[in-house]
Order: sequence, then C-alpha cells, then structure tokens
Amino acid sequence: MRYVSTRDSSGGPGRPFCDILLEGLAPDGGLYLPEHYPQVDGDTLARWRSLVRADGYAALAFEVLSLFIDDIPAGDLRGICERAYAPHKFLDPAVAPVSQLSDGLWLLHLSNGPSAAFKDMAMQLLGELFEYELERRDTTITILGATSGDTGSAAEYALMGKPRVRVFMLSPQGRMTPFQQAQMFSIDDPSITNIAVDGVFDDCQDIVKEINADAGFKARHRIGAVNSINWARLMAQVVYYFAAWLQIADDDRPLSFAVPSGNFGNIAAGHVAKSMGLPIHRLILATNENNVLDEFFTTGVYRIRGSAETHETSSPSMDISKASNFERYVADLVGRDGARVADLFGRQLREEGRFDLSELRAFRDQLETHGFVTGSSTHADRLGQIRRTYSEDGVIIDPHTADAVQVARSMQVCGTVVALETALPVKFSGTITEALGIEVPRPAVFDGIEDLPRHVVEVACSATAVREMIETAPGGAVSE
Ligand SMILES: *Cc1c(COP(=O)(O)O)cnc(C)c1O
Repeated sequence: MRYVSTRDSSGGPGRPFCDILLEGLAPDGGLYLPEHYPQVDGDTLARWRSLVRADGYAALAFEVLSLFIDDIPAGDLRGICERAYAPHKFLDPAVAPVSQLSDGLWLLHLSNGPSAAFKDMAMQLLGELFEYELERRDTTITILGATSGDTGSAAEYALMGKPRVRVFMLSPQGRMTPFQQAQMFSIDDPSITNIAVDGVFDDCQDIVKEINADAGFKARHRIGAVNSINWARLMAQVVYYFAAWLQIADDDRPLSFAVPSGNFGNIAAGHVAKSMGLPIHRLILATNENNVLDEFFTTGVYRIRGSAETHETSSPSMDISKASNFERYVADLVGRDGARVADLFGRQLREEGRFDLSELRAFRDQLETHGFVTGSSTHADRLGQIRRTYSEDGVIIDPHTADAVQVARSMQVCGTVVALETALPVKFSGTITEALGIEVPRPAVFDGIEDLPRHVVEVACSATAVREMIETAPGGAVSE
C-alpha cells in the first residue's frame, strides 16, 4: 500500500507507510490517504468475528492494519498491536466493549484507556509504531504539541518511557479541567515537559506553528507531531468500527454509528471502514454549538470560523473553528482530484474562509454513497441526555457522548444505532454534577491524582521561551 497527499496531482508513485508515519503533514500541505481503500468481503468478516471473540482486540487490529501496512514484517506488526492494545492497559480487557441501553441504543466504549478518552485508541498504537520505526532508523524525535485537554494526556501516556522520544506539550494555563491538569502534570518522566502557557489554546497552537516554520530549528531538533491529521491515528480508529460491528451484528445487517465530532478524525475512520465494505448504514455526525460540519452536510458550504465565533461549550473537545481532518473526506468527494483539493483548502479557504460544494453531483449523492447525516446539540440537550440515561439505565455518560446520544435519539435513523462513547464522565465531572447533582464515581486507578506532585513549567506567551526549553533540555539537538 502506498500513500498520496490529498493535494497531489502529479499521479506519481505514493510513499510507503513508514515514511508518512513520522512525517505527519505532506510537504504540499495536504493530508496522506492510501491510494485506495482495501476491500473486505463477507468471508473475511465471518473469520474476523470468530477471531475477535477468541483472541481479542489486538488480534483484530493486526488483521485490519495488515491491509494498510506492508513495510513492517508481520511478526513485528503483531507485536506492535499486542503492546498497544494489551488488555491490562484498559479498564475493560475487551478494550472496546459494547453495551445496550433500554431504548435499544448501543454504546461503543472507547474511553477505557490510560487517559480515559477515545484518543488513547489511536495514540497507544502511534506510540508503539514510533518507537519501532525510530529504533529501526536509529534516530530520535521531539514531539512538540498543543492541547486543550484530551490530546495532551493521551499523547503523554502513549509516549512516556520511550527513550527515543522527547515531548514538549503546551497547554493554556489554568484552562483545562482540574482532572485533566492532574492527569498530565502528574507524569514524572524526564523526557516529557509540560508547558503551561500564559494564554489560550490558540496562542499555544500559534507558538507550535511559529517554531515549526523555522526549518533549521525544526531539522536540528527533529521536531515532529502527533496531531490528529497523522494517517496512523485515523487508521488505528478504523479498527473499532469493525470491532463494534463484529460484536453486535450476528448476520450481515448494517449498523449506523453516531459520532461526537470536532476535527472529523473519529468519523473519518468510520468513512474509511464503510469504504472498505463494512456494512454501515448511516454515519451520524453530531456536533455541539460549534456546528461547522453540520452546516456543511446540510448546505454544502464549508465555512471556517474565527476564534470570536468559536463557542466554549460543555463538550470542549469538540470546540473547533475548522475541522482539520475534513480535507480527507472532501478528497473522496471530489474523486481524489488533487488540484481541486489544493484549490479548495489551499486557496479558497485562505482567501475567502469558505467554499461551496452544493452543486457537486457527488455531494448531492453523498447520502446514498457515504451515508452521512448530521445534527447538533445544545448544553441543555446534553444535560437532558445525561439525566435520561442515568434515570433509565443507571449509566453516566460524559457530555461528548451525550452529544452523540442526543443526535442519535433525535434522528430516527432506521435499524440499529451505536453511539461512540469518547470520554469517561470523571474527566468532565463539573457538567455531570450540574446535570445529576451527584459526584461522579471515579475508577480506582485515578484515585488521588490531584494530590501527586505536579511537573509543569509556566512560561510567558512567547515562542522564544519555548524554543529555549527545547534547546536546553537533555537529549536534544543532533549534530549532523
Ligand atoms: C477529540 C474528542 C472528540 C472529537 O473527535 P474528532 O476526531 O476531533 O472529531 C470528541 N470527544 C472527545 C472526548 C474527544 O477527546
């Protein structure tokens, strides 16, 4: 399997998986996609159903990932999957179990990993892939990232204790929940540096961009990223769509998935799974008040927002002004026309802040071919769903999951629907207390994390301060 940029119009040969793994964004500014989606038939699905029941999630992950990766020997890839999805690292050894609510809606539990959010599902694999490939190339990497909460802790739990990786993670000072802060700042690892910036999340992202724009500095310190545009993260997420279907459907009937969406990474993986032949009826995209994506699927117009128009909500991991993974879906909509994608995302978004695909035939047919339907929720909707699910089933769902549950319950999609649970409620306990008037019970592994010593450096809002930290921290610059 070879990978090509969404903006490539050369028709030239694609790149092998392990090259794009460490690179992230393509040099032309596009995102990598496999040249084609591998196809899975009914016999394969039947075989995988027995496999996942007998041998667990890691075995299924190996099967699915083998279709996308041909430059890692099978034995090594199997080891990578077994380490990434070792049952003991997850609160439930099934890794991604399912459960059913009394109204028939299913939940796919994706937040049993070390950081209690679904980002672990991809990040745990990415950590193992990085370690493997850096070892093979005998090199190191410095991960520089910005987080508003979930990405930072998922990345740090996945990369800690990996000797070839240093991490510098920027977060806006005092703006994460106390639990999120405790999760990150309690990590005691000399190669992980938490940096609390005196600013907001956008400031943190600007600092990362500014440092990345200095090509010399970037090369000298081998700066890399683990953000959601990395193909490997998306690929890892494809696996749990298969896992859910294999656990729930005992014949060939299709399921629909309701996905709480921000950067379009989670649901893009659903689109890939459907394109591979997994029987999916609808992909139900749920947004919160930041409804950029709902607007696109309703009108055909994609209009990115400014920070003034971006709302702070009770499902903060979905508070986005543009959806960084969306370009991948648009590439498929326009038939992988790289020049067209470059024009839409490179020129039109930069110059006009919007583009309009409502006239595109493929957009009008998309419901039939791709199956997307969308809806959005308000704060009151989310509180209502948290209350309903608790009173009917005694189950506490987090506010992001509540977005998906709200939209799933209001859409009247026929057949079986699975809502993706993307975080444990303990991460957003303030909203749960607001909805239910109770304290969220906390899994024992997180007991007392707020009381552990904090490892965090506070800096002014400036790239210079961050640069200096990267320069002076141990294990840094390479001489060649
Ligand atoms: C990141 C995140 C989302 C949004 O996922 P995307 O892939 O960005 O669409 C939803 N819920 C939680 C809890 C998250 O951490």
